Amino acid sequence: MPSIVDQQRAFFQQGSTLSYQARINALNRFDQGLRQCEDDIVKALYNDFQKSAFESFTTEFTMLYEEISRTKRLLKSWMKPQKVRTNWINWPATSAILREPLGVNLIIGAWNYPVLLLLQPAVSAIAAGNTAVLKPSENAPNVAQALEDMINSRFDPSHLKVVQADAQGTEKLLELRWDHIFYTGSTAVGRIVYKAAAKQLTPVTLELGGKSPAIITESADLKLTAKRLIWGKFLNAGQTCVAPDYVMVHRAVREEFLATCVKEIEKNNYRLGQNQYCQIINERHFDRLEALIDRKKVFFGGEIDRTTRYMGPTIMVDVTLSDAVMKEEIFGPILPVIAYDEIDEALTFIKQLEKPLAAYVFSNKSIEYQSILSQLSFGGGAVNDVVMHLTNPHLPFGGVGHSGIGAYHGHHGLDCFSHKKSVLYKKNWFEAPLKYPPLTDNKLKWIKKIMK
Ligand code: NAD
Repeated sequence: MPSIVDQQRAFFQQGSTLSYQARINALNRFDQGLRQCEDDIVKALYNDFQKSAFESFTTEFTMLYEEISRTKRLLKSWMKPQKVRTNWINWPATSAILREPLGVNLIIGAWNYPVLLLLQPAVSAIAAGNTAVLKPSENAPNVAQALEDMINSRFDPSHLKVVQADAQGTEKLLELRWDHIFYTGSTAVGRIVYKAAAKQLTPVTLELGGKSPAIITESADLKLTAKRLIWGKFLNAGQTCVAPDYVMVHRAVREEFLATCVKEIEKNNYRLGQNQYCQIINERHFDRLEALIDRKKVFFGGEIDRTTRYMGPTIMVDVTLSDAVMKEEIFGPILPVIAYDEIDEALTFIKQLEKPLAAYVFSNKSIEYQSILSQLSFGGGAVNDVVMHLTNPHLPFGGVGHSGIGAYHGHHGLDCFSHKKSVLYKKNWFEAPLKYPPLTDNKLKWIKKIMK
């Protein structure tokens, strides 16, 4: 492994990744590879957790294709120096921010969207002129192999290379000297990554998780709320970092909301199979999730089958902070619903937990949702929707506090893999004498006068 980092560093230092044309060529090769391997990757997703062809294409590929084509279209303008104003002290001069690639990157992906979460940062990394080692999650082994086949047969390993490793192997990778580490996964492993990076003073981007709340106020359109919320919660069988983790609903609309959710779940018929619902990724996560279900509090669902790793959509009610389901990010198809009487009560409840990756407000009153948005800290979110904010490339995607450090997507991805180099271009036709010796009282008087 140290040799691949050395090779990539040499390739980078030769300037092989820098030019606009080199970046466009890499993006074209990436796009072509993805299209040629799409069927194999979709099969691998099915083999890993019976993810359907429909969900595979819509949740893994659409954003990637969009990211590549948009990046190619806008890269020239994103690469231009950004002119900024110059303060009078430096007159006569001009100033600009030049984006430079960080260098050799380690990108570590998670299993839940194993294609998107590894390849989307890779697109930004190469567009920004970097090299990268991509480490897919060992928990989706078929996808990891398909991605290795796709990338390693098309790219010079000095530019882009997939390396497979388990937790121990990844810890070894973290000991190497990288210019940037981009990690997606749990907060617990995020700490390990951060600590390892600190030893080498390596900058990190940490895309973590958390307990993302959805608040449903009395004014919400309940039918549409249930439709959107149930879709987002049970997409990928709840194994989505920005899925609503739990719901806070106003007591006056609780019964109607629950009934509407049940209707929506029944209509969607969440069963394992070609174009339906996926499995829980592995037995470890299945057992973890099963232990979070308190049968006394199950309002709907609770159907499970360990042999097929099927866990049906499950709604729990009357949940409190001392329930197991509220002690960790659920990351599965269990939806706790908690009633509140006053908005402040809901906000106090949410603020007792770490800052989440997402938050959602369902309300038809602007004053109401603006007030909630201003009082809660979270990575990103939506009003009257869930999950979809991350598909907007104009919005940076990332967490805050325990849900992450840094952000990417669209030109924010380019920023994530670049250093913004500040440059002052000084003119030679004038030089003010004030800062140079002799440092007289008269000069100081003038400086003080100017500063006033
Ligand atoms: P995971 O088990 O796939 O682990 C993520 C990566 O960390 C893998 O590549 C794995 O090899 C590596 N890893 C595991 N143990 C390690 C160790 N000891 N040292 C170094 N590397 C190690 O995925 P996960 O952690 O179960 O992912 C689920 C979590 O990720 C959830 O909390 C979810 O919210 C979060 N997530 C966040 C985002 C986001 O974009 N912010 C996206 C998806 C998932």
